[in-house]
Amino acid sequence: MVRLDAVDLYRVAMPLTSPWRTAYGEDAACESVLVRGEAGGVTAWAETTPLAAPCYSGEWAGGAFACLRDWLLPAVVGEELASGEEVGERLAHFKGNRFAKAAVDELWWVMEATQQGVSLARLLGAEADSVEVGADFGVMDSIGELLASIGQAVESGYRRIKLKFRRGWDVDMLRAVRGEFPSETIHIDCNGGFTLDDTDLFCRLDDFMLAMIEQPLTAGDLLDHAVLAETIRTPICLDESIASADTARQAIELGSCKVINIKPGRVGGLTEAKAIREACVEGGIGMWVGGMLESAVGARICLAVAALPGFTYPADIFPSRRFYQRDLAEPELELITGAEGEPRIAVPQAVGVGAEPDEDRLAECCLEHARVAAD
Ligand code: MG
Repeated sequence: MVRLDAVDLYRVAMPLTSPWRTAYGEDAACESVLVRGEAGGVTAWAETTPLAAPCYSGEWAGGAFACLRDWLLPAVVGEELASGEEVGERLAHFKGNRFAKAAVDELWWVMEATQQGVSLARLLGAEADSVEVGADFGVMDSIGELLASIGQAVESGYRRIKLKFRRGWDVDMLRAVRGEFPSETIHIDCNGGFTLDDTDLFCRLDDFMLAMIEQPLTAGDLLDHAVLAETIRTPICLDESIASADTARQAIELGSCKVINIKPGRVGGLTEAKAIREACVEGGIGMWVGGMLESAVGARICLAVAALPGFTYPADIFPSRRFYQRDLAEPELELITGAEGEPRIAVPQAVGVGAEPDEDRLAECCLEHARVAAD
């Protein structure tokens, strides 16, 4: 049972070591929203990271901050909440805003774990003590730079490579990569940058023996994804399209995808992420966990999900130093090496989420702060 006395809300810009380029744009800093809840003298942190502009989804960090401050937190602070489902019910009359809702749901889970004296992963039902992670490369200045980065990742033992894919960084890029790395497990992420008019392009991609094509078409197009899935041999993975367990079930029934990328932020939090995991297991659909370049607080929330049983592909969860000179939160996430030399990240066993922002660093990165307290 969680009764939040107050929640402090921070919108932050965390400078990236190099710009993150995707089909939807370029980020020099990762904008994120951190929440710090207080309940009966106990504190807990959570994080949601929709990025600076409404380009990955319709949400953005400034909007999520305002939505939490003005609507979501006033609806839950001071209320007795017995479960993540109950949090969802309290917020159900607010439409959309899933990244914003995720902060409330995740805060409930981290607070409940902290009050029970267990780790978030344990409370969720996770069993694994570490999670295999993959390598992930955005659009770079040159193909030579990309090939060198992939070479380093392969040498470091990464067993799957994910590449961002957008117009101008497409078939020629893949041909060069496959020429140099003919047998590595590789997949591409289109971030919804294409339409069915590009079907010929996707047919040509079958030649590259990709593990999957992530989010080829617009987020809302479950039907078009089902049409594309019938046409090409490469499995389709959906990310942006899967906003909830309901859309997951619809996508599975329609045949829109063979794999789902589960991101707790995108789907409104851990309660919904768990439900999507169950829908994937039931539907025999592959699944893996993705991230949004979160700080070590948000990345640990993703890790707790990835440690649940049944994930079939290495996660997009990164050691802090992959994107940040210094993580906003501590302890930073570091890689460990698995039995077969593969990079993994340990699932924290500490109580709650097991990390919190460094106070000075938080002050440096903070763009906006608010506090919502019970009357
Ligand atoms: Mg994606």
